[in-house]
Amino acid sequence: MSLEVTQTVPFKYEKTIEIDRLLKGYKDIVNLCIQELIRLRKTSLKALHDAVYRKLKAKYSYQTSFYVTAYRVAIQTVKAWRKTGGETPRIEKLFAKVSPLAYKFDGETLRISIKPKQFVYLKLKYGSYQRKFIEAWKRGELKIGEIILNERYVIIPFKRVVELTKPEGYIALDLNENCIVGVSDKGEVKRWDCSYIGRTRAKYEAIRAKIQRNVANHTRKFKRLMAKYGAREANKVKDFLHKLAKQIVKDTKKYNLILEDLKGLRSSTNKRKKKFNRFNGKVQSCSVNPKGFKHRWNSFPYRKIQFLLDYKKRLNGLETHYVDRAYTSARCSVCGSEIKPKEHLCPKCGLNRHVNACLNLLKRFGVAFSPTPQPRNDSMSHALTIQPKAGMRTSMARGEREVGRHLNLSNLPTG
Ligand SMILES: [Zn+2]
Repeated sequence: MSLEVTQTVPFKYEKTIEIDRLLKGYKDIVNLCIQELIRLRKTSLKALHDAVYRKLKAKYSYQTSFYVTAYRVAIQTVKAWRKTGGETPRIEKLFAKVSPLAYKFDGETLRISIKPKQFVYLKLKYGSYQRKFIEAWKRGELKIGEIILNERYVIIPFKRVVELTKPEGYIALDLNENCIVGVSDKGEVKRWDCSYIGRTRAKYEAIRAKIQRNVANHTRKFKRLMAKYGAREANKVKDFLHKLAKQIVKDTKKYNLILEDLKGLRSSTNKRKKKFNRFNGKVQSCSVNPKGFKHRWNSFPYRKIQFLLDYKKRLNGLETHYVDRAYTSARCSVCGSEIKPKEHLCPKCGLNRHVNACLNLLKRFGVAFSPTPQPRNDSMSHALTIQPKAGMRTSMARGEREVGRHLNLSNLPTG
């Protein structure tokens, strides 16, 4: 078994008039297709093609493959819109997806055939990062798929085929604002600090607040400063995330990852509920979660971290499994008690909430080992003995010796 790993790499280029025209035309085509799909109440490629192809061909006379990629963008957009609802969707950004049928690439120059027999040549600019990919591609290790063109970049997806390796175990990760905790199916517990993200966020939020106080809003200077510090923050966080993911992948050896499926995370964070306002006598839609909580959850890069971990694991031929996250941190996996959002330990057995979340993920995936709660006594009231599989020398087993007979999981720093 093998799997395909794609890394998208941006290359800067000089936009030409033809490209500008192409991007604008492409946007119109996508928007027209979106309208047509909504009118037809369909999302099939064939129905769309039958309905619009002639019209489009007469108006734009592009290479046919451009319509096909535009159809797909339109279909995706409409499908997403059907799920979430809201205003009629419209594409505003300028970009075009270019199928391999419409370009030729020699490692430096990209030749795009916009219309039959009409070519545009784009010279790509690159640094050492991009060069690495180009060289691997020239050696035949990578393949190139559909590229994306926007106003500033040509984005090339490089695909690598990796042989799938059999995992030596599984490790579930619980992502938090300050730390990532992992528990393996062999009972190893690991922790990585990620408080840097929150600290950086806070630092730049303070800087932005200062700019807002001291510089007249909406002026050119204001915009320039906000953009400058925004980019600086984004870069710092991005750098950190890459290093973090690299470290985690290194520390989790040949284990497959088990992560929470984040589907619906944003909507559950921002959930609203109709409430009666006793001050004005109206029924109003109110936020279920407090403002600060929403801000923290919405600004933490859960998806980005998952994406990086998944990607880096794949490069090693290992997989990432996603399991339903409902109630993974709310219910104690050992004693079944409810753990409230603000409690760091299970109120009954003292299990650390992050460890518990991991245990629940392992259980849901079906690779749980069985930690047995310690009979309650005064000194060890919140200890947990984990029984590693026979013959398995794990860090957990070593840890047990270090702290005596039981590893006190509640000692794990919380965050
Ligand atoms: Zn418990």
